Amino acid sequence: MSSCEAADCQLHIFLFPFTAYGHMIPIIDMAKLFAARGVKTTLLLTPHNATMFSKSVERERSLFGLDIHIQILGLPFKEAGLPEGIENIDDIRSPDMLPSHFLAIQSLQEPLEQLLEKHRPDFIVADMFLTFATEAAAKYGIPRFVFHGTGFFPQCIEETLVSRKTHELGITSDREIFVVPDLPDNIEMTRLQLSDHLRGSDAFMTEAWEHIRDSEKKSYGILVNSFYELEPAYAMHYKNVLGKRAWSIGPVSLRNRNNIDKAERAAKKTSTDEHILVNWLDSKDPRSVLYICFGSMYSRLSKAQWHEIALGLEDSGTSFIWVLRNIKQEEEESPLPEGFEDRMAAGKRGLIIKEWAPQVLILDHPAVGGFMTHCGWNSRLEGVSAGVPMVTWPMSAEQFYNENLITKVLKIGIQVGVEKWNPWTRDLEDVSVEKEKVSKAVSRLMGDGEEAKNMRTRVKELSDMAKEAVEEGGSSYENLTALIQEFKMLKQKPSNVVGN
Ligand code: UDP
Repeated sequence: MSSCEAADCQLHIFLFPFTAYGHMIPIIDMAKLFAARGVKTTLLLTPHNATMFSKSVERERSLFGLDIHIQILGLPFKEAGLPEGIENIDDIRSPDMLPSHFLAIQSLQEPLEQLLEKHRPDFIVADMFLTFATEAAAKYGIPRFVFHGTGFFPQCIEETLVSRKTHELGITSDREIFVVPDLPDNIEMTRLQLSDHLRGSDAFMTEAWEHIRDSEKKSYGILVNSFYELEPAYAMHYKNVLGKRAWSIGPVSLRNRNNIDKAERAAKKTSTDEHILVNWLDSKDPRSVLYICFGSMYSRLSKAQWHEIALGLEDSGTSFIWVLRNIKQEEEESPLPEGFEDRMAAGKRGLIIKEWAPQVLILDHPAVGGFMTHCGWNSRLEGVSAGVPMVTWPMSAEQFYNENLITKVLKIGIQVGVEKWNPWTRDLEDVSVEKEKVSKAVSRLMGDGEEAKNMRTRVKELSDMAKEAVEEGGSSYENLTALIQEFKMLKQKPSNVVGN
């Protein structure tokens, strides 16, 4: 850390995201937040991923004068045995490619060290999967922060289940309901809902998690894309019981204030022009549209399952926008029921987006009244920020934990009824939720029953709290202030650095 005399000296930080949209998008938003507070920020991105975000970063620089930059780090495709240009987890179609991808990422330690040596940033925020960043930063006495991409609640559950192994909890069958011990609430789960690494059947990820935990212990702290008021008991548990040094500075997506920010947040290819989309939504009644999206990754649901969702949506009578990215136009056998797309288009009942959708822009539109989500942390938080209740369809990662937060703790959503965790790399063949369940959950959520009204009230309150949290005086805003101040102090007295 370079020292400086003046109290208002500028900090310079590096932000290094993992190569998945669900991890890159919030880190880009976070970089903009730091830059908006006068910090010079440098984003470390691989070449193709950099092109996805260069437009929005350039816009922040030219329009608002932010000191925000992209530094490109190339991946060694050939050496890692990866096809040229496969830079994103989303492009990985076979599970065998995952270890090679991780290997390629690990090889970025050396170029990272060269950059750290040259620029000597005041600290680096690196994704949890970039475990080598702690060691690289320590070589130059630079503090490293970890970014997990999730919130306090899922991390509290994961930590607890790692330390209190499920077999020690006396669970004898996959479907047996057990209470996750030692948490502020009675959180019930089944073994079927746990990830393969917790069930002991994914040696690669089990080892990866050990490295993650180890590198986190040696880090300065953890930045969390959440806000205190959303999960106060778990923010306290995380810090006071699990002993983590953490700063919640979200929801970071709220940095995107207007439609251009929201549409250009990640410049992935969109098949539907945003103006057409907004016009379509403008033609709908307030909160009458259900938005359906299962995250940034190629979705592995079976064709039979897509078919059931379509029929369930049709039966529910609700208008919808459905992001169906992995269904290709040219596919011979459409997974959608015969005539479905035409029927939905003719009555302006449904809009199907077959590429990337500007999710935050859609969720924030007043016509959207419900969100069917795979419960990815970002999506869940974006739903809360927009004040939209949810139908939960968890699939993998920590999504079953997030479902619990939505439906049991916050009571702002309805479970569709998925029972089993699956790795995101596995193509699914069966139907886990029939059309009747889809239709029933959607009707309950979008209807005018007492349950739906209560959920709307609660999520609206949380949305207001989210917005307050990121405004001056709000909890996340002040956490960011405190963090910046702490590092300005350290910059004046570099010997104060702790952690690394
Ligand atoms: N997203 C988007 N358009 C899409 C799909 C996803 O903008 O068509 C964004 C979404 O807003 C969120 C991120 O991609 O910020 C997905 O992150 P999340 O944690 O919800 O799920 P993941 O994709 O990591 O499973």
